[in-house]
Amino acid sequence: MKITEIISHVLQYDLEEELGYSQQYYLKRTAHLVEVRTDVGVTGWGECFGGGNVAFANKTIVEKVIQPMVLGMNPLDREVIWHKVYNLLRDHGQKGMPIQSLSGVDIALWDIAGKIHDLPVYQLLGGAFRERIPAYGYGMMLQRVPDLEERFARESAAIREQGFKAMKMKIGLGPTQDIRLVESVRNAIGPDIGLMVDANHAYTAREAIPLGRELERLGVAWFEEPVASEDHQGYRDLCEALDMNIAGGEGEFTRWGFRDLIKGRCVDVLQPEVCALGGITEYQKVLAMANAHFVPVVNHVWGSAVAVGTNLHLLAALPDLPGAAHPVQPMLEYDTTPNRFREELLVNPLRIQEQVKASGGTVALPQGPGLGIEPDLDFIRHFSVDA
Ligand code: CA
Repeated sequence: MKITEIISHVLQYDLEEELGYSQQYYLKRTAHLVEVRTDVGVTGWGECFGGGNVAFANKTIVEKVIQPMVLGMNPLDREVIWHKVYNLLRDHGQKGMPIQSLSGVDIALWDIAGKIHDLPVYQLLGGAFRERIPAYGYGMMLQRVPDLEERFARESAAIREQGFKAMKMKIGLGPTQDIRLVESVRNAIGPDIGLMVDANHAYTAREAIPLGRELERLGVAWFEEPVASEDHQGYRDLCEALDMNIAGGEGEFTRWGFRDLIKGRCVDVLQPEVCALGGITEYQKVLAMANAHFVPVVNHVWGSAVAVGTNLHLLAALPDLPGAAHPVQPMLEYDTTPNRFREELLVNPLRIQEQVKASGGTVALPQGPGLGIEPDLDFIRHFSVDA
């Protein structure tokens, strides 16, 4: 069996309303899907992290740099392919876009392996530790509007009404404004719903520590990306100064990047992004290191239904840490803001929000071999754009 072609599909459409986080506002929704074709008619799908123009750069890396390295190789040789590509790209980028690009290709290879062996990916990974995955609702993106506190209050109440037992909001507008936003959400959802905040590395540790004390007072379960991902000492200072959980890792890449983050005890909750850090093959190595250091893992999830489906397999196959009769369950991060690439991309949609509503907060595993998802090719053609 041979890899015959790798195609990148960058999908994009204009949002009705501008959305943002502490670094920027944006008006386009993007997804970057990777299709790996073989000579036996089996096709695998993956996804690369990276929106906007980053997706176009990654498309070039996938098609013009990685594809020629792996054409003709056996798609089941995932480790061999990963190391060949990484070794050839080492001198050109050990983090960032080359690794995001490799991630989408690697995920597609796992989809192919599942289809060839007629097994779901979670079983290739060692089996499902759980039948259903609790989901938390992510929303409350930043917007340039005068009534953001009221909007956050309404949106968070709506997420609670949808059945989510925990949710996450954006912060990063400065400590005073952040505290007002979190108070507004906490008042709207009450004391019993889990609440997490995400600053997208807007702060220095010196600014984030007093903000964190206020967040603790408001019962925030974790403070995500308080400081820049390179600032390991800042992360350690926050862990030392605060009782609350410090979360991070979505901006880290490969076993070598995560080695330093994990060994340095920089985070209480590790958030690996499989579509960026190097794919499922590399995720497994990061997970082993996190387990070895007893760092809980709650995957970062962003992107289309391909990314959501991939993460459901990973979360199903995540061992309890530590083992217990009633272990704390991992959670699926689920973006509740409107996204046609999550809701309409698949022939059989995952219907996450309907499942959450019906079950009181949990989601079933995708069925079928590989990732158990089938992208709608007409939909992909309709939304495909060129740089
Ligand atoms: Ca985040």
